[in-house]
Amino acid sequence: MTDAQTSLSLYLDRLTTALSTATAPADPEVDRPDRGIIGGAEADGEIPSLSFLSGAREDHLGVAVCSVDGEITASGTDHAFPLQSISKAFAYGAAIDLHGMDYVDEVVDEEPTGEEFNALSLDPYTKKPKNPLVNIGAIRTHAMLGTTREERTQRLRAVLDAAAGRPLAPHEVTWREELKSADRNYALAYMLRAAGSMTEDAIEVVDGYIEGCSVLTTVTDLAVMAATLASGGTNPLTGQEVFSRVAARQVLSVMLTCGMYDNAGDWVSDVGLPAKSGVGGGIIAGLPSRFGVASYAPQLDLHGNSVRGTLFFERLSADFALHMLDGVEPRELEECARELMDAGTHP
Ligand code: GLN
Repeated sequence: MTDAQTSLSLYLDRLTTALSTATAPADPEVDRPDRGIIGGAEADGEIPSLSFLSGAREDHLGVAVCSVDGEITASGTDHAFPLQSISKAFAYGAAIDLHGMDYVDEVVDEEPTGEEFNALSLDPYTKKPKNPLVNIGAIRTHAMLGTTREERTQRLRAVLDAAAGRPLAPHEVTWREELKSADRNYALAYMLRAAGSMTEDAIEVVDGYIEGCSVLTTVTDLAVMAATLASGGTNPLTGQEVFSRVAARQVLSVMLTCGMYDNAGDWVSDVGLPAKSGVGGGIIAGLPSRFGVASYAPQLDLHGNSVRGTLFFERLSADFALHMLDGVEPRELEECARELMDAGTHP
């Protein structure tokens, strides 16, 4: 590691520690499989009961940055958690590369809803889902990924694996449990069929969609996946072209306007990066041609977005002037981190 990289790593360590209300482990004998942020994290927000099934803990907080050159800097836990709605962004990219932008645009719109992520809503005139990042649009997008249940899953999984640069796997317990209470998602799928927007079997599409949501990722995986989008579709670790440039740009465009649900406006103002959250506690964001960033902290706010993940991104964006509309020259992250350390203005 160069000095400059050490500064970025130090910055991330200090920020995660500040946001975790962490204390040092009292008992060094205690086995900590993650990189050990513990303590009574008193952040606001609730951990959904589903998240406990894959081992979510109150003190979990992890962050990672991956540059488009494949340089990774991470801090905090590397616990693997379900990516949940973050999968929607990748399913959308896969649908665009499979069918072309024109067709996908005919079926699913690209307008923010200002509604909750699982709202029962179709555009009253076009009968289209408003965007692919709310549940109804994601279910419709999932249906586009193939003609059979199997084909759709294989296509989504192939894209997720290629974006992460390693084979990922669903968390069966989470998947099965979520299916037991999937009435709302079934209702959305039946709404799509009733509106004539979808002909595929509603039960099978929801099953495949929820399986995709349960895929386990660490923050490092997510940072690489975000960097894949930020680099115009090429995985920076493997060099594989996962998405065409058109698809990667479109995914980021919709992430910018719709990725944070009914908090999308606040997010753009405060953070200023295209982003996508999941109820598993993850958030990804990317600065095109620079890097991908990811955070994980399982407590959620009223919008279903990670509370401390949002705080992390607000602070990171402010400290490094990352807002894409800031009107300043983009800086090298490492260099900027070193300056922050030297000036003592780090967290
Ligand atoms: N699997 C969840 C659902 O369909 C995903 C929602 C989310 O992450 N916002 O409700």
